[in-house]
Formats: sequence, C-alpha cells, structure tokens
Amino acid sequence: MNYSKSYLKSEIVKNLGTLRVKPETASNEKYYKAVSMVVNKLLENKSKHFKAHNASTGRKQVSYLSMEFLMGRSLKTNLHNLMLTEDIREILKEFDVNLSDIYECEPDAGLGNGGLGRLAACYLDGLATRGYNSYGYSILYEFGIFKQKIIDGWQTELPDNWLPGGEVWLNPQPELAVDVHFGGHIDEFWDNGYHYSSHKNYSVVKAVPYDMYVSGYNSTGVSVLRLWKAESPAFDMESFNRGDYTGALGQSISAEAISKILYPNDNHTQGKMLRLRQQYFLCAASIADITNRHMRDYGTLDNFAEKNAIHINDTHPTLAIPELMRILLDECGYGWDQAWKIVRETFAYTNHTVMKEALEIWNEDIFKEILPRIYQIVAEINRRFVEEMNMCFGWDQMRIERMAILSNHQVRMANLCVYATHTVNGVSRLHSEIIKDDVFNDFYKMTPDKFTNVTNGIAYRRWLSQSNPALTSLLKETIGDGFIEDASELAKFKKFAADSAVQKKLEQAKQTAKQALADYMLKKQKISMNVDSIFDVQVKRMHEYKRQHLNALNIITDYLYLLDNPDAPFVPKTYIFGAKAAPGYYMAKQIIKLLCCLSEEIARNSQISDKLSVVYIEDYSVTLSELIMPASEISEQISLAGTEASGTGNMKFMLNGAITLGTLDGANVEIHDIVGDDNMIVFGMTAEEVVQRKEIGYSPIEIYNSNPTIRRAIDLMLSGINGQTFEDIANSLKFNDPYMVLADFDSYRKAQNKVSELYLDRKKWNEMSAINIAGAGYFSADRAIEDYAQKIWKLN
Ligand SMILES: *Cc1c(COP(=O)(O)O)cnc(C)c1O
Repeated sequence: MNYSKSYLKSEIVKNLGTLRVKPETASNEKYYKAVSMVVNKLLENKSKHFKAHNASTGRKQVSYLSMEFLMGRSLKTNLHNLMLTEDIREILKEFDVNLSDIYECEPDAGLGNGGLGRLAACYLDGLATRGYNSYGYSILYEFGIFKQKIIDGWQTELPDNWLPGGEVWLNPQPELAVDVHFGGHIDEFWDNGYHYSSHKNYSVVKAVPYDMYVSGYNSTGVSVLRLWKAESPAFDMESFNRGDYTGALGQSISAEAISKILYPNDNHTQGKMLRLRQQYFLCAASIADITNRHMRDYGTLDNFAEKNAIHINDTHPTLAIPELMRILLDECGYGWDQAWKIVRETFAYTNHTVMKEALEIWNEDIFKEILPRIYQIVAEINRRFVEEMNMCFGWDQMRIERMAILSNHQVRMANLCVYATHTVNGVSRLHSEIIKDDVFNDFYKMTPDKFTNVTNGIAYRRWLSQSNPALTSLLKETIGDGFIEDASELAKFKKFAADSAVQKKLEQAKQTAKQALADYMLKKQKISMNVDSIFDVQVKRMHEYKRQHLNALNIITDYLYLLDNPDAPFVPKTYIFGAKAAPGYYMAKQIIKLLCCLSEEIARNSQISDKLSVVYIEDYSVTLSELIMPASEISEQISLAGTEASGTGNMKFMLNGAITLGTLDGANVEIHDIVGDDNMIVFGMTAEEVVQRKEIGYSPIEIYNSNPTIRRAIDLMLSGINGQTFEDIANSLKFNDPYMVLADFDSYRKAQNKVSELYLDRKKWNEMSAINIAGAGYFSADRAIEDYAQKIWKLN
C-alpha cells in the first residue's frame, strides 16, 4: 500500500478538524493525536486486507496469550515499519512542527512489568514482519506499570494513567464482546444414562475487546493485539426487581475491578483472588474469541488444532487449557478423549523462570470458589493423569506426588501446563537445559521430546534504526541497508571492525548518544554527567537475583579506594542504574535507597566525583531504554548463574555496541558463543559451579571474615552512607546471601578492573564494540519467531 504525501497531509488536517483545532494553532499534543489517528486508520486498513488474505487461504492462526504486553510507544515504530517516517517528518515541517517533539507526547503503553511483557511485544513485531497470521491477547489495564518517583532516595509509586494519550491506538470491537462467568455452583444430574452438569448462580462479567495494530516491517503482515476490558453486563434487573440491591450493585463494582490495574510483581507471584479473576477473564474471553472465529470460518471444531496454535506465555494464562476443555465438553458435546486430543495438539507453553517464588500455585478452595466448573475439569485432568502415572510407575509414589496437578490443597499451574501442552520451551539454551534437569525433570524423563529451546529475540529495529540514528547511518554507509530487514546482515559489519576510519565514526556515534542521555538527565533530573567517563549501565527490574547490590558493593570499593588514593590513576566511570522495584519488595527498595545514597555521598566529594559517579535514572521504561541503550558502553548482566532465564536487555545493549560484563547466565551464554572471550568480559561461577558450591555448603560470613575488601564495603553500609545505614542489606549478605554476591565479588571486581584497562586502548575497545554489533543479528525477534513457527507452531 502506497500513500501519497498529499493524501497523508490532507488526512492529518482532517483529523485536526475532528479534534476541533486549526493546523496553524494546534499544539504538539493535537498533532500527535491527529497523526496517530491517521496511522491507526492505515493500520486498520492494512490489517483488514491481511486478515482477508489469511481467511481465503485458510492459514493456521497463532494466538499468543500473555498477561503482559509491555508495548511502549507506537507512533515511531509504526511509522518506521510502514516506511512513512520521512514523509510525515516533511509534512509536519510544512506546519513548522517537529516530528520528534510529537513522539514525546505519547505515553508508554506499560501493560507489563519487564522482560516477559516486553518479549510478548517484540514477538508481535516479529510475527507481523514474518507475515504470520497472529493475535496477541491480553487485558486492557486502565493503569499499567506504576510511574516511579524517587523522593529522597526512596521509590514511590504513582498511578500510570496512560489512556488519555494512549487510546488513539485502541480500536473498540463491541460486537465481539463476550460474557465471562465467575463463582456460583455446579448442578449435576443424570438423564437417560448421560451425565450433565450445569453452572448456576454465577456472576457475569462482560469482556469487550479493543484492538491495537502492530505493523510488520516491509511486509503485508499486521499483528492484532486484542485487549479485553472488563465491564459489568447490562444492569442486573432481575436482582434489582427481587429487591437484591447489594447483588445488583455489587456485581458491577467487582466486574470493573478486573481490568483496573496490572499487578506490579516481576518474577514473583501474589496469590490474590483478583489476580486469579484477571487470569480467567483473559483466558475465557480469548478462548471464546478464538473458538467463535473458528466456528464462523469452519462450522466445526474438529479441525481446531490444525488451524490454531495457542501459546501460553508463562503459566499466567494456564486456565486457557481447562477453558477450551469446557467449551468442547459442555458447549460442543465432545467426549473427554476427543476434547483432550484437540487441547493437547493446540497448546504450547513457554517457561520463564526456575525460581520457586515465581512458580504459580493457587489455593484449591479459592480456585474452586471462583471457578467451580474449571476446578472440576482440572480435577478430572489430574485424576486421569495420576491414574496414567500409576500404571507406569506406581512403585514411585513420591514421583507421582511431585508431578501431580492437585496436591496439598494446591493447584500447580506449571504441572498442568507441562502435562497438557505438546511443547514446552525455555528461553535460552542454558535455561532450557535447566528446566529439563531440574524443575521439570520428572516430566522430561517421561516425555523428553516435549522439551525444546527457543532463545529469546528482540524487535531490534526499535533499538537500532528507530533509536540510534548515528550508528544506523554508519551501518548503512558500510554494509548497505539490508540489515534493517534482515538482522543476519549485521554480520557484514565484522570486516570493518578493525578499520580505523569506521572505528572513529563508531566512537563518535557513541559520543553523540552519550550526550543525548546526558542532556536528558540534566533537563529531567538536574543531574550532570561526565560524557568522557565510561557509561557503565545496569537497567532492568530491581531484584536480588539480578544483583544490583553486587554492582553497589564494587562501587563502594571504588569509592573507598579513591578516598585512600585520591591521586591514583583511575579511568573515570559513571555507573548508571534504572529499575523499578515491586511496591511490596522491601529489600529491592532498600537497594534503590543504597544506590541513591551512594550517588549523593560521592557527588559531594569534588575530588572524587569527576572520576566516579552514580546516576539513578527515574522511571525506567521502554521509551527510556531507547535512549539509554545507544549511550551505553558496558552492559551489566551480572545475575547469579542459573537464575536469569534469558534476559533481553543484554541483546539491546550488544546491538548498540556495549560490551557485556556478565556471568554465564541466560542468553549471555549465546552472546559469549558469538563474540568469544576477547569481546565479552565474563566473570563469576558457572551454573554448575553454583550448584556444587551450594552442595558443599555456602557460608558468606566466612568470606566476610576473611576478605578485608568485602568486609570494609559491607561495614560502610553498617556505619552509614550519606547518613543512612543499611543493616538489612548488610546482614542479608553476611548471613544468608541467597544469590551468592560475596562468592562472586572478587571475580567481579577483577572484571571491572579489566574494563578500565581495556578502555584505555580505544582502538581495541572500538573493535570489540563493532564485533558485538556485528554479532547481534541472531537475537532478532524475526529469527526467534521463525524458530517458534517451525519448531513449535508448525506453520506452513
Ligand atoms: C528489555 C527490557 C527489560 C528486560 O531487561 P532484562 O535486563 O532482560 O531484565 C525490562 N524492562 C524494560 C523497560 C525493557 O525494555
């Protein structure tokens, strides 16, 4: 589809009219809305064509279910993918309006917490670009991930009221609304030898879909993200007439709460009833939508699995499994075995973590009360599963207990997922091995072929051609522009890695991006940054397993060293952090305060502050990541080996030429494979060594007692930094240290010293940087989607 500039211009003017403003006097805000309305309309059109094509060819549809889609902004990426950026820039210039100012008017669609939600968003881009027939399904949270405000060094949370600016991208589809049933009870009866059950006295929540379109790059494909909004059904006249006022009113109050707000926990579950309601709401609405569409197209569900792949992003949408069973059994009259076969051939599941606190387990009584019919189906799945296992290894009741779906008055979502799906994948090579060897080992032994790996990927254009214009120009000059469509072409840049003219330009591109970040920080947080220091960056959710406190411990050590040796040679470094903590995560909030106190105390010492500084960027988000990645020189990926399933931040950094300073964890392992020892700085225990170390018994206090450097750094936390003491962090490190910070400290500090040494040889440094950029092609979401399409969804 080709749209002329004059057409686009007249459409923008028309939409300004709809907004009741004149082009001459319209604010940037109005221009943002008008341009977005035009782009949204183009996408709607493109999507219609694409869906018509899909329907006419009877292609399989992928439905990607996820409680989170961390979309960020839409205007810039859609213009880029539609190749309209320059046209729109020129049109706006005619009105004396600056396109980049318009971008700033858009709020982030923050419908997710971190990596898991961003992955889902990246996959919509990959699916569209690869031209697959796809829907993402999630919830239209009225409030997304909170806005973080740092007040006096402490995180405070403000509501994220994104809809006023974000809803231009939402396309309501009221005719596709469906009802979702909660609570009530099940009446069972026999008639003529047949068993029937009927759900009585349930309450109804109306699910109304709002579609967001995501264009593929240089492709006819468009992904639809269908977001469900919870509404109370038409007023409950019956209860009202019965005189049941509270019943009539109460239903509407609880209904709307369901899509009110995103739970702000990352890698941690909170067994709240509202969360379970959210999960079932997403699953029931989405399964109704998928089956309704299938019935419209084919008039039967017999071929459902042949035409549909449903993907479950972590266990959060597990209830889609029993919900499809319910539809097949109760609404379509299938027998159990036939229904179960369809279900198993339809679903696949991605595991995202091996940490216990993130494993979803629901209390059986709560589950039964909120979802009585779903509970019955899960119980029957479990009964048959246990019976099956008793036949295979009845002698091993312990194993059966571990694998059961219902046990100990709990519903174990991961076990249901693994049992009911045809494929289970981890998100990096190491992580996929760990799930086979550890969390799902019993299942792996029973069905080894079910397990596979798809290493994560990112919508790399967002962090390269859309965010780093200087680097993009250099790449175009050297390797042509094929890399924008095909990330594997980045490999061509490797032969320029040692070219000193190219290196000079690469260094300049980095300097430009560092300056842009420094400008932002000065304007936004009144903090000035030394752009000639190394930008060493750790941005991600705040979590003990990610070990921001290991980074802090090294900074304290640097600081103490400079206090002792103010005139010693020292390569200037700026340690940059950005991270939100879950509001109820005490230790994470303490670590934020620690970093802020360090920042202030060091800044007050003018002898040191030009060599060492700590910067805390408030409210880390997708949009901020687009500013930060191009400016980064060191990518801190320092989780305890075996805890970070993949990471995707690591990929964004590498793509922008930052050197990874990391453990052999998650996809750092693949990064290391690609660039080798010379181009990544590896430190710390391997995952295997971590296991061994735990087996022999890990005693952090012994390290504290025997290592004066560590002791001094921890003691400073106890005596106070910027007037604040940190007993809880210090004691956790000394006496518990669940993520083995002290065990990896020496190795980390050596690695940090190596960074400083390497940076002195800028030629070498720039070469390393170029090799990283050249190696980043593998981490494209286009590649990851192709892996899913072939290995798991069996498309084409
Ligand atoms: C990419 C991204 C993440 C994931 O970062 P990790 O370092 O992989 O944990 C989290 N939040 C935002 C805003 C991101 O863009």
